[in-house]
Amino acid sequence: MTLATLLISLETLRVLAENRLPPEITIMHMGVTANPHHDTAGIQHFFQHDLYPWLERYTTLRGAQHLVRSDGCAGQMKSGRHFRFIANFHTHTSWNLGNTLVWTHSESCHGKDLSDPECGRAKFILRCHEMRHTDDTPTMLKTSREQFDFLDKHHRLTTRSLREKRGKGIYYRVYHWMPTKSIRPLASLAEINTLEGSVTMKSHFFMNCGQVGMIKVREIACLSCDEGRVFRYPRCAKTRFCGPLLCREVRQKSGARDSAIETRHCSAIQQAGRERAVQVLPGTMVGVECIDEAEPYIVSLALTVEKTWEGESGSSWMGAIVAGHNYWLILSVCDCMRLGVRVTCKYNCRLMYVHDQVTSTLWLGN
Ligand SMILES: [Zn+2]
Repeated sequence: MTLATLLISLETLRVLAENRLPPEITIMHMGVTANPHHDTAGIQHFFQHDLYPWLERYTTLRGAQHLVRSDGCAGQMKSGRHFRFIANFHTHTSWNLGNTLVWTHSESCHGKDLSDPECGRAKFILRCHEMRHTDDTPTMLKTSREQFDFLDKHHRLTTRSLREKRGKGIYYRVYHWMPTKSIRPLASLAEINTLEGSVTMKSHFFMNCGQVGMIKVREIACLSCDEGRVFRYPRCAKTRFCGPLLCREVRQKSGARDSAIETRHCSAIQQAGRERAVQVLPGTMVGVECIDEAEPYIVSLALTVEKTWEGESGSSWMGAIVAGHNYWLILSVCDCMRLGVRVTCKYNCRLMYVHDQVTSTLWLGN
């Protein structure tokens, strides 16, 4: 901590104490993107690539309950794919800081917090800036990137200081630029069935319960009873009003198992896969569970035994391969049917990397 930041911190604590407020500040995070698709893929991107890296870098927050309040927009935050994100949040151990994700929805235009007027404020700032445009002093902001740059450069701090605001309101604004192409297309996330028991529409509380593919759901989000205030949501004191906390399965339409997210990294599973991989002979039917969500299973005909890659590094539709990876040449079943199995592998073979890109389960047949 530099002397300057120490002095700022002391001033902040002094302002809060003088106004009899707890030592808490509000930091606003805003994602700016030119991507026109406002869907759950964008929300997930913001969490993984913007908000959480920031939290990791600038805070000591670990193992917390992350309570999110949002409206009930079906595309962004109240859809099967989003429920899957909440249900499997604990598996993203490379970036989730050990946090538990709790998501509450309000009816549109209700229950919003400071983020709503803050985003309105950002739009107002941009509009005012553009209205000052003249040919001599152009202030037109033609792209989302220009708008981001302008906000980031001039509006990290609010016009009035924390002292002037008596310790309330936004302390600092953080703007995140999200390049259009960095956000994955929605179709690349597995399709999800509606939660059973028609609970989706009438429920407003969704919680990660530490079990892959399962989510806890309650009709009314109670955050203010004695238990809710200390994040013990399952023990809510008003269950007669809020409804019980029900456990629901988040099921992929393809039938792929989400348990693979956890088990594919398990050494026993990987070892079993390796043992089966060496049994593969030319002509063996091979079924594999893949990381690729759009194509969770592949059934194919092996054309070779397992080999070790000695060529140059490269990538294909199956992912990357480097020297030392094991692979087979395979013919997909679709190609077998289309071309007939007797077609030589020369034109139809595909590389498949068993140990690194394809994981978890191998079924062998003849
Ligand atoms: Zn409660």
